[in-house]
Amino acid sequence: MGAQHPEQPARLTAIDDQLIASGIGQHLHRYEAPLATDEQLARVHPLKYVRAIHEIAPSEGTVHLDPDTAMNPWTLRAALRAAGAAVLATDLVMKGEVKTAFCPVRPPGHHACRSRSMGFCIFNNVAVGARHAIEAHGLDRVAIIDFDVHHGNGTEDIFENDEHVLMASIFQHPFYPYSGTEDPAPNMVNVPLAAGSGSREFRAAVTKAWLPALDEFKPQLVLFSAGFDAHAEDDMAMLRFTDADYGWVTEQVAGIARRYADGRMVSMLEGGYALGALGRSAVQHIRVLAGLNA
Ligand SMILES: [Zn+2]
Repeated sequence: MGAQHPEQPARLTAIDDQLIASGIGQHLHRYEAPLATDEQLARVHPLKYVRAIHEIAPSEGTVHLDPDTAMNPWTLRAALRAAGAAVLATDLVMKGEVKTAFCPVRPPGHHACRSRSMGFCIFNNVAVGARHAIEAHGLDRVAIIDFDVHHGNGTEDIFENDEHVLMASIFQHPFYPYSGTEDPAPNMVNVPLAAGSGSREFRAAVTKAWLPALDEFKPQLVLFSAGFDAHAEDDMAMLRFTDADYGWVTEQVAGIARRYADGRMVSMLEGGYALGALGRSAVQHIRVLAGLNA
């Protein structure tokens, strides 16, 4: 995204470093993400948009899709792999080769709308995974859990009023992208939190709003938009979550997944820009996904 941009390659190194330091990295299987195909992307974005992204991708230098979102000569392949990771992870989990998967991808996806890139996002990775589960694996009910500090407006744009998808999200409000509170569709469980909110408010919202809705929906697969930028150390925003909150929320949602989805969970990295907090929080999340907490 350019020098000084918070959405930087070091984010993935930070997660890898903490996986090694915590000792859980050795228990994980690693897979290389394939490039998403036009067909897989076109379940979420109009083919015209997909083609336009291919065409605008530069062979040298940088082009800006919006003031926050840039492409260099490597971005297109990274974006295709980020979306392809969601497809591969969904396949692996649905075939029972693995129970859960975490995809440490860049660029993130949850701000990418049907026909518009924004907020560091080009293709909506989690949405590509959800539609793949529905169309290629025949699922009727997929839940998307979005705990990034920013509202996943792109995911909402793609799935509002879609009976196959329930989206549960929590986000700082009012804050970028200033959406999610005006009359959301019935399949959207949006919980806005005021700046300064921390563990107590987060856990109360999950317990009172998310879990009852998930229990009623009975998802056959749970996907996460796993952003770690609501952490107290992350100065992208002003929520005050702790490392432990990410393990806790994953455990709560894993209970739902065990009850209705045979434990199937796929998690896509979204935001998280304070490198230390990102690495530690992602490890808390992955530890629970991998069932290494017991
Ligand atoms: Zn974010």
